[in-house]
Amino acid sequence: MTEQETKQKKRKKQQFAVAEELQEEIQNAVEVAQALEELEKEGKQLDIQVCPKCKSPKVRRAKSTGGDMWAHIGLLPPSYECPDCGWQERIVLKATNKPLSVKEVELIAEAQDIEDESAK
Ligand SMILES: [Zn+2]
Repeated sequence: MTEQETKQKKRKKQQFAVAEELQEEIQNAVEVAQALEELEKEGKQLDIQVCPKCKSPKVRRAKSTGGDMWAHIGLLPPSYECPDCGWQERIVLKATNKPLSVKEVELIAEAQDIEDESAK
């Protein structure tokens, strides 16, 4: 067993140890982790976009509207929406089996800050 596999096992154990109301969220996170593991076995590395609210891996690009013109010309990142909880945002969390770059870590931190703000 590689060092990485051991780490992934540990992470899953922690996920299963948290409170019951988070079960659905955990289930989504586990699905993402499993999907990434499958892809890793196939030698593929990619990012999966996950909803920051419910961790659903079903996040997709929001249908473009007139208001999304800036995204079309590349000045803003495109909007994403979650069919599970209705979340919609320009910043999307990514689950990845690639080592995170500093830029990606910053983006995730930024998304978490936004979530904190809206919770006030
Ligand atoms: Zn969601």
